[in-house]
Amino acid sequence: MAERSSSPEGGDEAPSLPSPLPAASSTASATPSTSSATSVSSNSAAVSSELPLPLIGSVVLVSWDDNSTHEATVVQSRERRPGQLEYYVHYLAYDRRMDEWVALSRIDLEDYKKQLEGDKPDGPKSSKRTWEPTRKVTRNMKRKTEASHMGRAGTGGSQASLDAVEREYEKNTKIKHITSVYFSKYRLSAWYLSPYPEEYGKLPHLYVCEWCFKYMAHRHALLTHTCTRRCPPGREIYRKHHISMYEIDGAQEKLYCQNLCLFAKLFLDRKTLYFDVGPFMFYVLTHVDDTGAHVVGYFSKEKESHENNNLACICTFPPYQQRGYGRFLIEFSYVLSRLEGRIGGPEKPLSDLGLIGYQSYWAWELLTALHKTDEPVTTAQLSARTGITQDDVVATLQWLDLIKYWRGHHTICYTTKQLHAATVMRKLRPPKLEVDTRCLRWCPPTAPPKEERAAGGDDA
Ligand SMILES: [Zn+2]
Repeated sequence: MAERSSSPEGGDEAPSLPSPLPAASSTASATPSTSSATSVSSNSAAVSSELPLPLIGSVVLVSWDDNSTHEATVVQSRERRPGQLEYYVHYLAYDRRMDEWVALSRIDLEDYKKQLEGDKPDGPKSSKRTWEPTRKVTRNMKRKTEASHMGRAGTGGSQASLDAVEREYEKNTKIKHITSVYFSKYRLSAWYLSPYPEEYGKLPHLYVCEWCFKYMAHRHALLTHTCTRRCPPGREIYRKHHISMYEIDGAQEKLYCQNLCLFAKLFLDRKTLYFDVGPFMFYVLTHVDDTGAHVVGYFSKEKESHENNNLACICTFPPYQQRGYGRFLIEFSYVLSRLEGRIGGPEKPLSDLGLIGYQSYWAWELLTALHKTDEPVTTAQLSARTGITQDDVVATLQWLDLIKYWRGHHTICYTTKQLHAATVMRKLRPPKLEVDTRCLRWCPPTAPPKEERAAGGDDA
């Protein structure tokens, strides 16, 4: 049974976003029949009008089903059927997950014409909209991208090659062809591009086995796919009631981890690890029922992080969001760090959803620690008590307005009333799920990790 596709606002701790009108078969009425010299399009459609057609790169107004209009950059165009033009747009005020194909009828061509006329020397005062890329690829993302494409030995590339990687990344992340994915009993909307092989990546729909994450082009292939797997590979390291965690070595279960990453990338903007999974451990969270251990999300972690990162990439799959699983994964990463005797944190930069999840986790942990003490406390002490890095402690206390910068030092200052006010202001709530360390069967690796984990085997 196919359920409703996941909506863009379905993030674990996601901000509320309005939903655009689905790109439906509503184009015919918007395609006038007269020819025009101003009709320019990369795919010269049979459509034309006295109104100009938007050029790639132009900024136009796009209407949504609530009758609101939003500025968007035209990224690409296509002709789905003769005379039916569609445009792939990126909304300037929104994250890339909102990018979509829209029918021409949803673009305000009158407004676009005014823009163009505004460019003429004798035209009305210019109303031309300009587009500035709102998203920069950070050095860290470049490193990851490069590692994915070239292997980790190639990470020390020149500035020119980094620029090339940046351009390629921008180009590749512009258009997502896969709009929906059939996964278990769900039909999920794809939020972002994932680098599935070309013959799959260009399909509008993809079929993914929920047990092994093998991807298929046709429903029939999924129906006839015989999968004996009913839980993730690796070692079960945590079990409480219906919640179970598996630890998987990316070097030992390369295909599973690659397929897991490719699937997760459909819902992740920033992280670009797909192929070079060997240097990572994967911690896969499942919900266990009579039919098996269903993967609800995971996080990956570098086996050796020089920056003490305790998490590289985190994803809760859309059907399982807003149930506390994201927070559980974050807490789990800190529990492992504590057992390793380390203070760590997630790799930066965080994705938008990642930041929201972490902020609420950090805030709740710090407020809980502050409630427990009557003594003045420093950021270093809070860091030691919570396992959160000092930088993250300071940033979170600033977010909560509980810290002042005074004479070169950060000073935590608050009253009980202010603690309560911060909780209310940031809408913080007790966790729905918490890690019960009594149910954890895990020791930090002391020997070379591979050998130790190989001995663990698959005891699931
Ligand atoms: Zn399978």
